[in-house]
Amino acid sequence: MPRPRHEPGVPVAQLAAQAHCVGVGFHCQACAHTRRVAWAALLPRLRALGLDPETTGVRDLWRHARRPCDQCGGLDFETRPAWRGLPGADGTAA
Ligand SMILES: [Zn+2]
Repeated sequence: MPRPRHEPGVPVAQLAAQAHCVGVGFHCQACAHTRRVAWAALLPRLRALGLDPETTGVRDLWRHARRPCDQCGGLDFETRPAWRGLPGADGTAA
């Protein structure tokens, strides 16, 4: 699906080094459902795809999503860092 050009975002490796960044949120553009993927699952996937976390921006990760949205089955996501302990950011107390 065509999209306007955008900045690739902060490199994944930099985010993964942040204590309060727990992974990446895949925000479905069709239904607004967000699936969070933890670094422990995401980083091995990146390496398996041949992507370097040092140079791959978090906002470019949507291009590599293979698993459809849990809610609507869509495959069009916006990807952003998922933070822990940010009030209202994820709806959890963890
Ligand atoms: Zn969806």
